[in-house]
Amino acid sequence: MTTTTVGVNAGALPAFRNEPVNDFSSDAARRSAASVLKHIQAELGREYALRIAGRRLKTGDQLRSVNPSRPSEIVGIHEMASADLAREAVQDAHAYFPEWSATPAARRIELVVETAAILRRRKLEFDAGRVREAGKTWPEADADVSEAIDFCEYYARQMATLAAPVETLQMPGERDEMVYLPLGVGLIIPPWNFPLAILTGMTAAALVTGNTVVIKPSSETPTIAAKFAEVLEEAGFPPRSFSLLTGRGSVIGDLLVEHPLTRFISFTGSREVGLRIVELAAKPRPRQVWIKRVVAEMGGKDAIVVDADSNLDDAVKGVLVSAFGYQGQKCSACSRAIVHEAVYDEFVAKLQAAASALTVGPSEELTNYMGPVISGGAMKTIRNYIETGKSEGRLICGGDRAPGEGYFLQPTVIADVDSKARIFQEEIFGPVLAVTKARDFDHALELANATEYGLTGAVYTNAPERIELCKKKFFVGNLYINRKCTGAMVGAHPFGGFNMSGTDSKAGGPDYLLQFVQAKSIAERVR
Ligand code: NAP
Repeated sequence: MTTTTVGVNAGALPAFRNEPVNDFSSDAARRSAASVLKHIQAELGREYALRIAGRRLKTGDQLRSVNPSRPSEIVGIHEMASADLAREAVQDAHAYFPEWSATPAARRIELVVETAAILRRRKLEFDAGRVREAGKTWPEADADVSEAIDFCEYYARQMATLAAPVETLQMPGERDEMVYLPLGVGLIIPPWNFPLAILTGMTAAALVTGNTVVIKPSSETPTIAAKFAEVLEEAGFPPRSFSLLTGRGSVIGDLLVEHPLTRFISFTGSREVGLRIVELAAKPRPRQVWIKRVVAEMGGKDAIVVDADSNLDDAVKGVLVSAFGYQGQKCSACSRAIVHEAVYDEFVAKLQAAASALTVGPSEELTNYMGPVISGGAMKTIRNYIETGKSEGRLICGGDRAPGEGYFLQPTVIADVDSKARIFQEEIFGPVLAVTKARDFDHALELANATEYGLTGAVYTNAPERIELCKKKFFVGNLYINRKCTGAMVGAHPFGGFNMSGTDSKAGGPDYLLQFVQAKSIAERVR
C-alpha cells in the first residue's frame, strides 16, 4: 500500500489534476484491452456476499447480473438483503459512527487517496468490468473509472480545506470558531449508468467527511459495486465504516430511507424514485431526532440549441456524441436538438448521414461506437417511446433493434417534433433524439427551457450577444457553449441540475462536501 502523508491543509497534497484517459485507438491499448478481458473471464459467474457490519453474509435469495451485450452470460451472482439485514446495516453503521467520525480527517483523507491509487493501478481491469456489466464501450468505461479516481482525489483535497480552521469574526472578549461535523449514517444509492464514478463519488464524499455509509447499489451493476467494496477494504477503510447491501430498491429502499437512524440519503437516479425518497424522508419516524437530509440528483431532458450562424459540422458532431455516446444513457445526454429554421434542413440532412454511419454491437469490440442498452426492460421502454415518436414526428434514422443477441438498438432520430410531444418532454434514457425547428434564436431558447428538467444544455452560435443571453436565460445546471453537453470534468464542471433534475448539489465542485456535514459555531468567553 502506498501511503501519502497528508496534513489537514490542502497544500499537503499536490494540486488536483484530472486522471488522463486511455487512448484505445493505439494497437498497444487494444491488445491490453483484449488481454484484460481474457484475464477477467475467470471471474464470470462468481458469487459475491453481502457485507454488513464487517461480516460477509449469504441469504440464498440471489440476484444475477448479466452482460447486456450477451445476456446469456452471467457476470456475477449476488445475495439480496432481507428487510432485517437492511435494518441491521443501518443500526451497526449508527453504532460505529462515533468511532469513525472521531478518526482524524488526515487519516480519512489518506484512505480516500489510497482508494484512488488502487483504482489507478487496476484501471484496465475496472474498465473491463464496466464493458461487461454495464455495456460501456472501452472509452466510455475508461472515462467512468477516471472520474471515480478524480472524485477521490478531489474530495480528499476538499476535505483538507474543510478540516482547516474557518476564519470567523472575533467578538471582543471571545474566541469564536466554526467547525464542520459529520452527520451520521448515510444511504448511498447510485444508478447503473455511471456505475463506478457516481458510486465512488457519493461514497468517498460521505466517508471522507466522517460519516458511516450503507451502500445500496443498482441491481443492474452489483458486481461493479462488489469490486468497489473490495477496493475500500484493500485501501484500509474499517470494515464497519461501510456496508454493501445488494437487493432490489423496491424491496429494501423504502425501509432504509424510513429508518429513524438514517441521517441522510445521497441518491442519484430517476425522478420517480428520487421524489419518492424526498417524500418518505420528510416524514419523521418514532425515535427520529433529526430532519433527514436528501441529496437527490435525477433525470434530464437536455437540449442543444443550434443557431443560424453556427458551424454546422461542429454542431452535428456535438449533437451526435451527446445523443448517442453510451447509447444515450447519460443524464446529460442530448435528447433534443433545437435548430434555427434557416439551417434546419441542412442540419437534419447532415445529422441523418452521420447518425446512420454509427456502428452498433457488442461493447467489447472497439469498432463499435454504440453498445447495448442496459436491459431487456430498458429496451422495451425505449422501443415504446420510438413507436410514440414515429407518430409525433418524422423518423429519419434508426427506429428499430440492431442485430445481435444483446440489447442493441439503432441510433434513432425523429425530426419535426413539436414541443408538446411526449418524446420532447419525457426522459427516454436511450439512443433517441428529437429534432425541433425554431423560428428564431429566442424561440429556440424558449423551447429549450420548456421542460420540467434543467440538467445540461448546450448552444452552438458565433454571436457573442446570444452567448450572453444563454448564460442568463438557458435554465440548466450545466451550460456548455460551442461544445457537447456531456462529459463534465471533476473540478472544472461541478455537476447538478435545476428543477426536476435534482437538488443541484454540484458533484465534483468546491461546495459538494458541505452536503455531508453540519457546521457548529463555538463562542468562548475569554478574560
Ligand atoms: P432508478 O431506477 O431511479 O434507480 C436508482 C437507484 O435507486 C438504484 O440503486 C435503485 O435500485 C434504487 N431504488 C429503486 N427504488 C428505490 C426505492 N424505493 N428506494 C430507494 N432506492 C431505490 O434509476 P436508474 O435507472 O438506476 O438510473 C437512471 C436514472 O438516473 C436516469 O433518470 C438518469 O437521468 C439519472 N441519473 C442522474 C444523474 C445526475 O447526476 N443527475 C446521473 C446519472 C443518472 P434497484 O436497481 O435495485 O432498483
